[in-house]
Formats: sequence, C-alpha cells, structure tokens
Amino acid sequence: MGTRGVRLYVVSDIHASEKVWRKMLNAARTRMYRADAVVYAGDLTGKAMVPVVDAADSFEAEVAGRRRVARTEEELARLEQDIANLGFYALRTTAEEVERLRADPGALEERFRSEIRRRIGEWMALAADRMEGTGVPIYLIPGNDDPYEIDDVLAASPYCENVDGRVVEGRNGIGGEWGHNPLPWPEAEEWPGPACYCGLTGCIETYLSGPALERDYAQAAGDRLAGPDIVAHAARGDAAAEAALARYERRLARALASVVNVLDPDVIVLGGGLSSIDRLYARVPELWGDYVFSDVVDTPLRRAAHGETSGVRGAAWLW
Ligand SMILES: [Zn+2]
Repeated sequence: MGTRGVRLYVVSDIHASEKVWRKMLNAARTRMYRADAVVYAGDLTGKAMVPVVDAADSFEAEVAGRRRVARTEEELARLEQDIANLGFYALRTTAEEVERLRADPGALEERFRSEIRRRIGEWMALAADRMEGTGVPIYLIPGNDDPYEIDDVLAASPYCENVDGRVVEGRNGIGGEWGHNPLPWPEAEEWPGPACYCGLTGCIETYLSGPALERDYAQAAGDRLAGPDIVAHAARGDAAAEAALARYERRLARALASVVNVLDPDVIVLGGGLSSIDRLYARVPELWGDYVFSDVVDTPLRRAAHGETSGVRGAAWLW
C-alpha cells in the first residue's frame, strides 16, 4: 500500500500539573516520539487550591505538608510555580479571605472554578505559542474529573481542538476504520482469508459480517442457512451451526482484543444485525483475555441501545 500509519502521542491525567503540560508540549514540538498528533485523553484540571497567605512582610503556604515562606517577589513566584507544578492552584489571598471562603462553600467553589478556567486559558495560550507552525495538532478530550466550565475556554483555543463528542476523521478520512484491518492472530485455515471488496484478503469484515457468518457456515456444513437460523439451529444443539458460531466468537474476540490493545476503551458497543445474538455478550469476553495485553480485562461488551438501526442513527447524527 505504501502508506505509513499515523503515530499518536497519547497523554492523560495531568491534573493541572504545569510542569507536565510543558513537558508534553516540548515532547510534541521537538517530535521526541516522532508523533504526528497529540491526543490528550482526559483530566486536565486539578483538584485543590493552595492558599498563599499575605502575612504583611511575606507570603506563607503549606505545600505537600510543608510550610513555605516567600519573602521576595522571586521566592513568591517560585512558590507559586512549585504549587502549579504539583497540580494545585496557588491562591494569593489573605487570612480573612481564607476564613470567608471556608465559611462559604458556594464562593469557594466559584473561586476554584475560576482558577481552573484561568489555568486552562494559560495552557491554551502556551500551546499556541509553542506549537504554532509545527504541524502537530493537539486533540483534547476532557475527562470525568474536568468541569464543563472549561469547554468554552477550550473552544476558544487558537491551537488545541476539543474533539469530545465529535467525529475525528483523521488525515485521510479513515479514522476508526476497523473492518478492513486483517483478522488478527489468524489460524491456519484463516490465512490468507477470503477476498474483500476493498482489494485485500482476510479483512475483519470478511469474517464478522452477517454474509460472512452465512458463508462460513455454508462452507463447513454444505448447505445454506440465514444468520438468524444458524443461531436458532445452534440453540437446538445442531453441531455445524454451533461450530460456526463458536468460530465467529473466537474471531470477534481476537478482532476486539486488538481494539482494546490500541484504545483500551471504557466500553465496547456492538451494532449491526449480528449484535442481536445474545450469547456474544457472555462468550466473547471469556475469550478475548488470551489476546489482550493485560492481566485483567473487564471491558463491558454491550448491545447498541437501538439494535440494528444504531448505525443509521449514528450516521444521521453527522448531519
Ligand atoms: Zn477489506
């Protein structure tokens, strides 16, 4: 084919650590990992503020269990930078304000949110400053620990792109293509595999589509059955139908294991006609552990809420 894959630098859970954000930008900018794009996959924001209290001739703070005193502007800047590097928000304040905020959770929360937004705004500016002209895009996906209030700050970013809930088409418009990768870890009789309309052989689609299941059954059993009939025959104890479904499950387990190995998603949702086969949801997760590069695999395998029509509904969302 002559094409080269897209190399991603995937980062997550920085949780407001300024130092790590800067390191990430430097690594991306200098192509340290030869990455074509950065994917920041969740949890940009920090979890706490650290009061830096004005004590007349100095500022005082408790950082990671240690009392710190800053007597000059430089010391104050270093103290605040240390706090930011740890992923906290330095709050320059007075003892009276600290007391007031302690007594008013609403005001405290509001102040916290405003610090979060400010840091995100600074990071977006820093990213634009460091990355402009590099040709390495940064795609962000806020995580479960990030408040929705950062969305408009991200949307205003001149460089980073918030791709949460959006289609990422990729450079060649094929982001997320799975069916035309080869069936992974093929068994002897699965190699080189059936011809695919895309011009290659042994694509996942040539094994895991409805017509593929019917073809596989017909080749082994010598007669033709529609997909739902194969499932019904297997349920009644028909050996050929059972063997075809078992082959289907092993193939699906391998094909999904390769998705887990690359993306490690929180859930895998099956759509299409064959997603109505109940037994897949129990059998496939029993099998994929042999292929996933992790000791534990607890990824839920779920049926699409709208069954067979889920693909059409998803496509309709694009317009
Ligand atoms: Zn193909």
